[in-house]
Amino acid sequence: AKNNPNEPEFLQAVMEVAETVIPFIEKTPKYQGKMLLERMVEPERVMMFRVAWIDDKGQTQVNKGYRIQMNSAIGPYKGGLRFHPSVNLSILKFLAFEQVFKNSLTTLPMGGGKGGSNFDPKGKSDTEIMRFCQAFMTELARHIGADTDVPAGDIGVGGREVGYMYGQYKKLRNEFTGVLTGKGITFGGSLIRPEATGYGDVYFAQNMLATKGESFAGKTVVVSGSGNVAQYAIEKATQLGAKVVTASDSSGYIYDADGIDAAKLGYIMEIKNVNYGRISDYLKKYPNAKFVEGKRPWEVKCDIALPCATQNELNGEEAQVLVSNGCICVAEGANMPSTPEAVEVFLKNKILFAPGKASNAGGVATSGLEMSQNSLRLSWTREEVDQRLQRIMSDIHEACVTYGKDENGFVDYVKGANIAGFVKVADAMLAQGVV
Ligand code: NDP
Repeated sequence: AKNNPNEPEFLQAVMEVAETVIPFIEKTPKYQGKMLLERMVEPERVMMFRVAWIDDKGQTQVNKGYRIQMNSAIGPYKGGLRFHPSVNLSILKFLAFEQVFKNSLTTLPMGGGKGGSNFDPKGKSDTEIMRFCQAFMTELARHIGADTDVPAGDIGVGGREVGYMYGQYKKLRNEFTGVLTGKGITFGGSLIRPEATGYGDVYFAQNMLATKGESFAGKTVVVSGSGNVAQYAIEKATQLGAKVVTASDSSGYIYDADGIDAAKLGYIMEIKNVNYGRISDYLKKYPNAKFVEGKRPWEVKCDIALPCATQNELNGEEAQVLVSNGCICVAEGANMPSTPEAVEVFLKNKILFAPGKASNAGGVATSGLEMSQNSLRLSWTREEVDQRLQRIMSDIHEACVTYGKDENGFVDYVKGANIAGFVKVADAMLAQGVV
């Protein structure tokens, strides 16, 4: 803590890993005395840079740009770019640290990284978004590459932004390579990548539920967020026979007792992906739904909860409400949405709880598949990518069970994910020497 002052999110993420990994190191001789965790918490490299651009009024604007290259022991740095006014070094270091373990869990050869800017896309015109993306990439381009560091999307960075950044990278470098993932399908993107994080989250929950002889069929599901991850979590849960009754954004949540079916989800996609609007607009078309301003959806009774918005969006009290209402399964689609107090409530009550680094790894895993397709100069079909995604999610589930199951048969997925993620990176670091 004294070496990383003013970085609460980073310290929170490190503490959560340390709590389970340190006892494991202490009973595993080959990892002792090698300063492995101490090395893992130091980024290999941090870039911070100025992003200056001109808005539609001709005014100069300045934002902060970042790229954290956290760990490259098992592959090139890989991780998303976030554009949100809350972005700072602490948030990006927490995300980069989590990413190292997550990428390790995917079974694919990817190191960990993260980046972004405090740029706020809300209310910006399309041309402003384009100029910002170009200005951001003008600096970032010198630090990344298809075999060095491969960024992707995250909050505030979707297909449109990746497209603009890819265009600028190509112009600067005069090379057509897989330097970014989440690209459009006409220039190297992979089918299923947009769906992958939300689908993967539901596939992971499906694996957890199966250990109790349960499934999504007939269950009531509460989802937070209404962005990329939330949309496809809603879609897949609904396809598997569940009724999803909520979606949210930073202004509040909507509750639709009849369930958000495919047509209603189509409308959410229109609101969010085409009009860049607010979730409360849902009521314009579906007035029977309720909009609860300024609140999060955890007070709604459900069997399964999928937090898919942002970090620390589900606290201890809300976790208690979920459990008291009979929720049996929480699978994080976002990164670190549950506070440490919330995680404690879930584990104490022995419900099925999956930390984001395991349950949302489907996004980066499919980015890894996009990289493979780019290197092969081939495109796989939807079914092929979806099948690979399902297999990867069930392999991650298996790895969590291997390292997280206790003598009574209870699976602590937090412990399982942390240790399984750690082992692969630690072994690679040991083999590569102290560098
Ligand atoms: P989007 O930008 O598409 O959507 C983010 C959603 O979260 C929006 O509904 C947004 O509402 C809401 N949100 C953002 N900040 C806040 C906040 N401070 N309080 C309340 N709501 C907020 O992002 P994604 O769906 O891509 O990402 C969501 C989460 O999933 C993030 O934690 C991300 O790191 C994680 N993730 C994403 C992956 C991906 O492939 N995209 C992969 C793995 C993890 P509003 O519009 O009001 O801001």
